[in-house]
Amino acid sequence: MKLIRFGKQGEEKPGIQLEDGTRIDIAAFGEDYDEHFFGTDGTTRLGHWLERNRDESPIVPQNERLGPPLVRPSKIICVGLNYAKHASESGMEVPKEPVLFFKATSAIVGPNDDVVIPKGSEKTDWEVELAIVIGKKASYVPLDEALDHVAGYVLHNDYSERAFQIEKQGQWCKGKGCDTFAPIGPFIATADEIKDPNALDLWLKLNGETLQQSNTSDFIFNVQEVVSYISQFMTLLPGDIISTGTPAGVGLGFDPPRYLKPGDVVELGIEGLGTSKQEVKAYH
Ligand code: ZN
Repeated sequence: MKLIRFGKQGEEKPGIQLEDGTRIDIAAFGEDYDEHFFGTDGTTRLGHWLERNRDESPIVPQNERLGPPLVRPSKIICVGLNYAKHASESGMEVPKEPVLFFKATSAIVGPNDDVVIPKGSEKTDWEVELAIVIGKKASYVPLDEALDHVAGYVLHNDYSERAFQIEKQGQWCKGKGCDTFAPIGPFIATADEIKDPNALDLWLKLNGETLQQSNTSDFIFNVQEVVSYISQFMTLLPGDIISTGTPAGVGLGFDPPRYLKPGDVVELGIEGLGTSKQEVKAYH
């Protein structure tokens, strides 16, 4: 099942994208895609509801704005430097255990919303990533049970301001949580749709030029390892997002580095998880 949310910012309603691409409004189901929905096996309940109500559900026009495909979760945890080539282009060592940082949930926007270069920024950069959506509360989860805690997967662009992230003191979160820095979607594919999350092609283009192209089989720490590892340090709640890191080809890695400017267009995609597109805007 592909979960979507659609409508004006802040007024999104839940929907489903069908196999043929048709989008239907499932607001009559009476629940949104939030912690309660994921934590109570909402996808199974929704599946049963759809068997009876799918044909009567209103069609969502294709030009309707897509919002983030879930209600703002309790946290976004990101894995840094999870592809060897990206660690090397960033001038950093391949980590011995997952590097973690937080991304503010207020950065979440719809998949095709504009990305706004923050006030004072000169180094806004892109990062295509596979994101995991947690389905079941996870605390001290062993490796072989990790996937039981995953509700689904979603495309994420982990926008990053490199001067805020690296040149300012302290943690990376300064350069990761700016407004609009987390376009999520177009949809959450439920876990049953993705046979092997550790073998998915992913790519990103800037103004039509392919800059990132890789496969999640190049992960240093795979999906199971990341879920199990993070759950040793904090409880993952249903709906929480783990972003699994980006492959090589970010702006920081070029010589000289390349950063975003107003008018640029960023497009990205992951096998089985659709594509998204952001236009770059100046802050004002
Ligand atoms: Zn990242």
